Amino acid sequence: MSDRLSTLPGVMDPVEIDGTGQRDGHDGHGGQVGNGAHTGTGGHGGQGANSGTGGHGANGDGIAAGRKPLALSASRAADFTRCPLLYRLRAVDRNPEPRTRAQVLGTVVHSVLEDLYGLEQEERAPERAAQLVPLAVERFYAEDSGGEVVPLSGRAEFESDVAGLVAALYGVEDPQRFSPASCEQYLLTSTSAGTPLHGFLDRVDVAPTGEVRVVDYKTGKPPHPRFRDQAMFQMRFYSLMYQRIHGVLPAQLKLIYLKNGSWLTLTPDLASMVETEASLDRLWSQIEEAGESGDFRPRTSRLCDWCDHQALCPAFGGTPPEYPGWPGTRVVPAGTPNLSTGE
Ligand code: SF4
Repeated sequence: MSDRLSTLPGVMDPVEIDGTGQRDGHDGHGGQVGNGAHTGTGGHGGQGANSGTGGHGANGDGIAAGRKPLALSASRAADFTRCPLLYRLRAVDRNPEPRTRAQVLGTVVHSVLEDLYGLEQEERAPERAAQLVPLAVERFYAEDSGGEVVPLSGRAEFESDVAGLVAALYGVEDPQRFSPASCEQYLLTSTSAGTPLHGFLDRVDVAPTGEVRVVDYKTGKPPHPRFRDQAMFQMRFYSLMYQRIHGVLPAQLKLIYLKNGSWLTLTPDLASMVETEASLDRLWSQIEEAGESGDFRPRTSRLCDWCDHQALCPAFGGTPPEYPGWPGTRVVPAGTPNLSTGE
């Protein structure tokens, strides 16, 4: 894999994502994901989510001392839009969530695909990809406590599921015909107005003629057409980050659904990027306002059925933990291109 983009400002080692030191887990269904490792917070019985105070550990401005300031990722942006309390519990409290089989399946598949594109182009035959699978599964058990999520009795089936998803890539593209510019790259940047953005790009391809394609792999089913916008929101978010760092608008955003070998593409234009940037600025100011007041309200929806935090949610008779205070907004150095003026 060439990593020639990594010397540019804003492209860096994945030291953190959402301040946890972990990237968001790869989900198996194209929806929200767990937060990986979390430190957890104090017990229950404190102020409710709507307490309106900075809470324990916060100074007079509601800013908690000694915690890492936050930036916005596509997943957490979707969380806040879906339910402000969910955002708080994940991003601010870092309340632990159990890892699921679907998430770790996604993580292992991504790791195999990264290994695959790390090989020389001519070596990326399907048989070689298949050989990478048991190695990645072995790593998952050895380094990632895989047995806690997938018991050893289910390892063979898990490995076979990973192999099936990896093989499906060959129905979408031929990895022996091109080499990506980067894989699994962590980006940190900000909008022109200073909203800090970060996230991992699964893959970036740059054509010999200079056109850029941002690719994201999904191991779950493609979304119902009604939910396509959510999937594309994530891609517009990545596209904006790329544009802010490189000054080049990607020519194509591609979501690859390995489950059924299908894909969705989007061609972003400048107007849609300006709109995305403005909507993220609005969202971040709502998040900051809620962060400083501690007022993160629950917003129920059908997705509550899959929420790991029901026991802490007032909408389900629970009580949120005492609000730990707003960790602050991460400051990202200026100097990235201005989207609306191109300067
Ligand atoms: S159960 Fe529903 S309303 Fe409550 S925190 Fe989770 S997503 Fe929000």
